[in-house]
Amino acid sequence: MSAVPVRRRLTQIAVPVLAMCAATALTVVPASASTAQTTTAPIAPGAATSGPAGPSTLPAARSSAPSQVATQAADATLPVNYACSATLRVRAQRLSAQQLTGTCDSLAGQDSFFHTVVKDSGQPVSGDRNTTLELVVFDSRSEYVRLAGSLYGVDTNNGGVYLEGNPAAAGNQARFITYRDETSQAFAIKNLNHEYTHYLDGRYDMYGDWNANVSTPTLWWIEGLAEYVSYTYRGVFNSWAATEASKQTYALSTLFDTTQQYDQNRIYAWGYLAVYYMVEKHPGDVAKILGYYRTGSWQAARTYLKQTIGTRYDADFRSWLLT
Ligand SMILES: [Zn+2]
Repeated sequence: MSAVPVRRRLTQIAVPVLAMCAATALTVVPASASTAQTTTAPIAPGAATSGPAGPSTLPAARSSAPSQVATQAADATLPVNYACSATLRVRAQRLSAQQLTGTCDSLAGQDSFFHTVVKDSGQPVSGDRNTTLELVVFDSRSEYVRLAGSLYGVDTNNGGVYLEGNPAAAGNQARFITYRDETSQAFAIKNLNHEYTHYLDGRYDMYGDWNANVSTPTLWWIEGLAEYVSYTYRGVFNSWAATEASKQTYALSTLFDTTQQYDQNRIYAWGYLAVYYMVEKHPGDVAKILGYYRTGSWQAARTYLKQTIGTRYDADFRSWLLT
């Protein structure tokens, strides 16, 4: 990767920060949810045509809520049932063959980019059985708000949600619920690449479920990586982070303490900056930290961040923000 920060490299459209997303979308399984398993034939795949999707804005939430909510109601609401691959399925209210293949292509291409960033072994973390992912796409934000709560029990005051479930449980279905981004001129699915990063990060970096993952302050990594991979993979300028960087608000060592109680600027924009800096300037430290995260050694990672690294990179980070 280039040493030149992406935030300075492009002149992409400015993406406004429109609203907040709840990083802790608490969910309940709706009473109407059925456990009936149904099968729907996938529609015929069309020719692959497009690459990574367009820019997205709002970060999305992540949760360990149960994701086994599927069903007859979902089948009726989401007639599009398309297998991108043996491990990735798209459920939607309405997507054309071209939109489906563009979406599949974008995510397929992201796999190798992700693995290049996190430098994993290619093997999932121990106990992770989330071999497949279901991507649910509502036709608009209003349809998401109208239907996702009753179908999947998710909060909808966000830009989508990733439900990892219990990755160690047999039959668990990891699911990412989102919607068509009507604010984008070109076809785009809200937070597509951000949320897909959560799936990959949960499978290849973060041992156990969401609650285990955030048992220490790891949000700088979880949300920062999702933003970093999303923007960098797509080659999109992160104007939000660029604006925040110019303010030099936080020390790197402070960002290692980020939890869900902090605001969206700190979680997403500053998470992006922290991960960007660490991945590109200190890959050896990232390898060490991920070694701990991958084995659920949360306290060891915490000690490494706060004591081994501590404040040693703060001055360099501060000047890097203005480069
Ligand atoms: Zn996220």
